[in-house]
Amino acid sequence: MTNQELLKIAGEYGTPVYVYETEKIREQYEKLTKSFDGKTRFFYAAKALTNINILKYIQKLGANIDCVSIHEVNLGLKAGFTPEKILFTPNCVDITEIEEAMKLGVHINIDNISILEQFGNKYGNSYPVFIRINPHIFAGGNYKISTGHIDSKFGISIHQLRHIQRIVKTTGLRVEGLHMHTGSEIKDIDVFIQGLEIMFEMVEDFPDLKYIDMGSGFKVPYQEGELETDVKTLGKKVLKAVNDFKKESGKDFELWFEPGKYLVSECGHFLVRANVIKQTTATVFVGVNSGFNHLIRPMFYDSYHKIENLSNPNGPERIYTVVGNICETDTFAWDRKINEVREGDVLVFRNAGAYGFEMSSNFNSRLKPAEVMVMDGKVHLIRKRDVFEDLLKNQIEVL
Ligand SMILES: *Cc1c(COP(=O)(O)O)cnc(C)c1O
Repeated sequence: MTNQELLKIAGEYGTPVYVYETEKIREQYEKLTKSFDGKTRFFYAAKALTNINILKYIQKLGANIDCVSIHEVNLGLKAGFTPEKILFTPNCVDITEIEEAMKLGVHINIDNISILEQFGNKYGNSYPVFIRINPHIFAGGNYKISTGHIDSKFGISIHQLRHIQRIVKTTGLRVEGLHMHTGSEIKDIDVFIQGLEIMFEMVEDFPDLKYIDMGSGFKVPYQEGELETDVKTLGKKVLKAVNDFKKESGKDFELWFEPGKYLVSECGHFLVRANVIKQTTATVFVGVNSGFNHLIRPMFYDSYHKIENLSNPNGPERIYTVVGNICETDTFAWDRKINEVREGDVLVFRNAGAYGFEMSSNFNSRLKPAEVMVMDGKVHLIRKRDVFEDLLKNQIEVL
């Protein structure tokens, strides 16, 4: 997408607005599928971006979907994914939510001993399950997005394998899948191999095993010079390890992954407008018509999003701190070189597809932005901007 096209969208639909290019999603999906063999399955981690149009598009690509709430499961069904293509990976939900998913016929991934035991006692071998293992590998770009370490709430500790075995044995549970997801933004391919080897050691313990799900951790570059997970090399190394193991052990299983960010981060461009340029004694602020109510990643994860001035691309570069308009410190970027920003200019945040709109809120009684999808050269509004009435929706006035 050219910057001119983005500017046109800002003019037509207003700002702030999230823009998604489907072509980029397809490109990323194909990079992945080409790097692995046809037996490897990819489950899009829906929580990254759940607009129904994006889900439908990803369904049409042939992907599967990984859902973390019953509502995501229902969104997946609505988008056209068959139950066989849906994996439900909740954490800390009660058994009733798992039973709802069971009724829908999707794959179920259990992430704690308590539910595993309840499920086994109630359903025995009548419905197959996955078990989410916490291998205690520290991986990922940031402590908040790392899920495999010792203090993490996710999964059942690998050290509790004996306990898992006891439950499986006494209840007859049919364990068809083993799952691990050690975190986001893993740069080191060997971490995946290390994780795989931990999985291999458990295969013998689960005779009904059909699937090994290695979760995600695929990284995309946010800053100049940052690397993307080299999926080609990853594919080669992983397939070799898997095939060697299969030969040695005589076991067979499908390999699954759950990319979120990898598929939808780069497709997203978040457009905002510069409201004010505010020169203080120490810095020059650009105050934009957005805040962490719309894009929380910089404040929440210290994430870096490239920012460009679409309205003045050839202006002299100056150093700015870009902040939002809410009553909280909501700094998007410190000391960033941007082409001179004038009040009214349209700025773009890159890599805004994943965990952008999805994590937005109405904090400060501000309205959630619109979403636009660009597909086959056509621009579609796929979510209307909030209006004032949305703030009162579901409130009950009693005074
Ligand atoms: C969030 C999540 C993913 C996707 O992570 P990304 O970093 O966006 O690729 C995959 N699997 C599970 C279980 C998740 O919770």
